[in-house]
Amino acid sequence: MSLLSIDGVWKHFHGQSVLRGIDLEVNAHEVVSLIGASGSGKSTLLRCVNLLETVDDGVILLDGQDITDPRADVDDVRKRIGIVFQSFNLFPHMTVLDNITLAPRQVHRVAKAQAQEQAHELLARFGLQGKARAYPDQLSGGQQQRVAIIRALATQPRLMLLDEVTSALDPQLVVEVLTIIRELKDSGMTMILTTHEMGFCRDISDTVCFLDGGVLVEKGPPEQLFEAPEHPRTREFLRSVV
Ligand code: ADP
Ligand code: MG
Repeated sequence: MSLLSIDGVWKHFHGQSVLRGIDLEVNAHEVVSLIGASGSGKSTLLRCVNLLETVDDGVILLDGQDITDPRADVDDVRKRIGIVFQSFNLFPHMTVLDNITLAPRQVHRVAKAQAQEQAHELLARFGLQGKARAYPDQLSGGQQQRVAIIRALATQPRLMLLDEVTSALDPQLVVEVLTIIRELKDSGMTMILTTHEMGFCRDISDTVCFLDGGVLVEKGPPEQLFEAPEHPRTREFLRSVV
């Protein structure tokens, strides 16, 4: 059984179809990338998976459970799915440690000492030891984004969704964030990510999906999608980005 199964998902905004019958299976430990022009529906698809948007048709199963069922427990689903955005969205008035321990303590009722111990372990693992007491504005963009990723990991999700997590960073800071995504993959984390970094996408993905106008036009292993795309629209897109 797939860890995540997206089956015939449609989403409309103001009468416009932004997702048009998306089908996608994600297996445990798999890294799936979504590529496509701005406005093709990549973020909307991730937001539907995390229940930040409701789907208008189709179903999404997480570990076999229909999370798009209106009776699904949204908090419980979000416990199992971490999401990180382009803009880091850290709470500016809270220390790094408090940002990371907020969800484990409030949503998961983890004891303070235990949540803090785990946060310190994660900070050390991602090269941010010594930053626990810092506030977000005292960190570089790359460090803030690493904290945002750690915050998403703190609830021990089954699946991580990463939406253009390097797009807001200066080029020299991109690599430190890509490095931790690589480490997450090596540790077996299942991920769906959107990115404009085609080299990185090719390197890290097990499956690459090309979206165009809300349609999943083509998907396959990176070698196939980048070197022998079958669909003319995929070829056209790849020509425009290299
Ligand atoms: P991508 O992430 O691929 O750039 P998005 O998923 O952000 O694409 O957007 C797909 C389309 O949906 C765009 O036309 C965008 O304007 C529209 N859209 C996204 N979110 C909303 C919203 N909350 N309300 C109205 N339109 C939206
Ligand atoms: Mg987007």
